[in-house]
Amino acid sequence: PSSGLLEGLQGWVSTSGFAMAVGIWWWMSKKDNIAPYGRHHTTAAAVISLPLTHVMLPTQLGWCLMESPPLLLTPFLFSVGQYTSRTAPRMLVALFLAHYAHRCLLYPLRMRPSRTRNLPILVFLAALVFNVYNTYIQVRSLSHYTEYSSTWLLSPQFILGAMLFFSGMLINISADSTLISLRKLGPSNSTSNSSRAYRVPHGGFFELVSCPNYFGELVEWLGWAIAASSLAGLVFFVLAVANLVPRAVAHHHWYVQNFKEYPRSRKILVPFIF
Ligand code: NDP
Repeated sequence: PSSGLLEGLQGWVSTSGFAMAVGIWWWMSKKDNIAPYGRHHTTAAAVISLPLTHVMLPTQLGWCLMESPPLLLTPFLFSVGQYTSRTAPRMLVALFLAHYAHRCLLYPLRMRPSRTRNLPILVFLAALVFNVYNTYIQVRSLSHYTEYSSTWLLSPQFILGAMLFFSGMLINISADSTLISLRKLGPSNSTSNSSRAYRVPHGGFFELVSCPNYFGELVEWLGWAIAASSLAGLVFFVLAVANLVPRAVAHHHWYVQNFKEYPRSRKILVPFIF
């Protein structure tokens, strides 16, 4: 596609995402600086002494609200662009919305977070700001700044990207479902500690890596970046890498430290490689 993305404000806003990714990677890669939610809440919160670290939101409500900007802002942002009536941007925006319809509406209803670890408001605010920023650059790129040809949906880039997007989504949802089902293994009394405990996950991609949900998420956004072939798509993928790779490393080490029986052959994130 031909792109006017480097023009004006949109160009600056999009390229600033690369600087953000470097900052996130640098911060998260420092020992114990992993975003303080879930299993890393206690360790990270003890080290990161920022204001609001100890203010919490109910996890499921927090996830639904922080993942809502794409669903709420996209209809408006998409409607004001010059290419909104074209098929390719419409199809791409439909993929984007499909991911967030699941993440904002279905995932919070299905998840079984530990009741003792709510969502720190700092994590909530960071995710909310990221989602507003990212929705702006993705949707404006599609609706106004990138001109796709009428045959873009038949191009090798779109077909390969869409295949990766859906494969990644499948891996991500299936791995998250495995984690959700681990919490269901506890006694029928759902308030008991054991039904909120961590267990070693097995099956599917968990036999190969510790964090297949993050692997799936990254494959999904790599597919999106290829299907959209835009600067904004690349920025999103790079930001997801900066966020999820250090977290996957921390998860893997946490499993190895906490479970003697943890399979040593399991890689961290990318099957057979890393
Ligand atoms: P985690 O894998 O850390 O946790 C997912 C859920 O499963 C949580 O409710 C967690 O509980 C529970 N869980 C995790 N491991 C176990 C275990 N071994 N035994 C029992 N329960 C377990 O993922 P995140 O919460 O970080 O992310 C959730 C989703 O959001 C993922 O699909 C991820 O890809 C996506 N995401 C995307 C990001 C992006 O940049 N695009 C950023 C962050 C997340 P608890 O909360 O108690 O730990």
